Amino acid sequence: MGPLSVQGWMDSFDSFEDTLRRLREAFKAGQTRPVEFRVAQLQGLGHFLGANKQLLQDALAEDLGKSPFESDISEIILCQNEVDLAIKSLQTWMKDEPVATNLLTKLSSAFIRKEPFGLVIIIAPWNYPLNLMIMPLVGAIAAGNCVLLKPSEISKNTEKVCCHPALQSCFAVVLGGPEETGQLLEHKFDYIFFTGSPRVGKIVMAAAAKHLTPITLELGGKNPCYVDDSCDPQTVANRVAWFRYFNAGQTCVAPDYILCSQEMQERLLPALQSAILRFYGDDPKTSPNLGRIINQKHFKRLQGLLGCGRVAIGGQSEESERYIAPTVLVDVQETDPVMQEEIFGPILPLLTVKNLEEAIDFINRREKPLALYAFSNNRVNQVLDCTSSGGFGGNDGFLYLTLSAMPLGGIGNSGMGRYHGKFSFDTFSHHRACLLRSPGMERLNDLRYPPYSPWSQQLISWAIGSQSCTLL
Ligand code: NAD
Repeated sequence: MGPLSVQGWMDSFDSFEDTLRRLREAFKAGQTRPVEFRVAQLQGLGHFLGANKQLLQDALAEDLGKSPFESDISEIILCQNEVDLAIKSLQTWMKDEPVATNLLTKLSSAFIRKEPFGLVIIIAPWNYPLNLMIMPLVGAIAAGNCVLLKPSEISKNTEKVCCHPALQSCFAVVLGGPEETGQLLEHKFDYIFFTGSPRVGKIVMAAAAKHLTPITLELGGKNPCYVDDSCDPQTVANRVAWFRYFNAGQTCVAPDYILCSQEMQERLLPALQSAILRFYGDDPKTSPNLGRIINQKHFKRLQGLLGCGRVAIGGQSEESERYIAPTVLVDVQETDPVMQEEIFGPILPLLTVKNLEEAIDFINRREKPLALYAFSNNRVNQVLDCTSSGGFGGNDGFLYLTLSAMPLGGIGNSGMGRYHGKFSFDTFSHHRACLLRSPGMERLNDLRYPPYSPWSQQLISWAIGSQSCTLL
């Protein structure tokens, strides 16, 4: 497959019904089940990513002003690694998992089979428009499903690239916003994988409930970041600033606000100022390393948040470029708008607390976040033990996302379910409980049939409770 030409694909799309029928028929005919087919699809995906890297980088730059560095490490390379891992591990993942038997089932074969759900829909957001569509797609293909992809209509350029015909054999891409996605969800799917806001997550879950469709919800929220007095402020500032301003702050797992003492705030402010200067220069607007806000609507929303508390660093904005400077806010109140919603932009409020206990109480009074960060020389484990969140970072940001053996997923308001690596394969597989018994040896079953007696009841109860007897 050669590099893409974007023109002309969109006119050739079927209506939803036709596309869905085609995918269902492919699944019914068993096309997606053979391991060879899954590997070929994954290889095609890997090839698509490799052959179109420049086009993807350009699209991400147009959508989000993303630098090639950020596009590579947070989107393209992660997707390529995921494809490679799935190809390498597929045979192992697909194997039936043997299950220990009890005495009652001793002479049987007991195992868990991973079978595909069928027709899966993946609905993606705009902030990592490639990563958040391709990573789940890898798991869905590896598990043997047919897949319908619904990229975000807001990251328009990446949406176009993802419509490539090579992505449309036993999976397909459909375009649309809230209205079209709502129509799509009236159809029955066998699994729904949604990444987006908690608000839309509730709408999607209600649609899933109508058909009792199983669902994964990868949602967002406000991720706290606690910094204790024992830390070196410059180290914390470098790490937090990188993760907060990466992708212009439009990252679901970015630290959303800092909790620290008044004394640490005084030390952190010059350190943050120096980190921002080092990363983006005197005038961050001219830096090729700082992204842009996705659209006017989000730009206006973020501009409104700049009025909360007092601007300690940054605060400049320019509508024509959808530019917001890396900003730090202080004197912010819990009741301010910036503390009521996920910020999703390059703005970092600092809130002061007296001590760790107050910080933990502050965190636990709110919805469980997607990610939680703690910086300390000696109390990281205390924060970990006393709180709950989808993921946790001690003395750094979201580097844990680069580990394919780590699940990504929320808890409570930040979502349900998990994926990445083998977790994705398991998410998109039905775990079928299988027990294969011998058709003979009927005498052995006599004890379980009526008429029941106290003796047979005792014996069967014992046999159910006992694990495989090594004597047999
Ligand atoms: P969104 O919820 O507005 O949209 C997500 C998807 O849902 C898009 O494809 C959109 O077309 C569709 N959609 C929007 N309104 C709909 C409706 N009424 N009915 C049906 N479908 C609808 O989210 P967004 O603005 O694209 O992304 C930002 C949100 O996603 C943030 O909250 C962020 O934290 C979250 N997010 C979470 C993760 C994660 O891994 N947990 C990753 C990235 C983003």
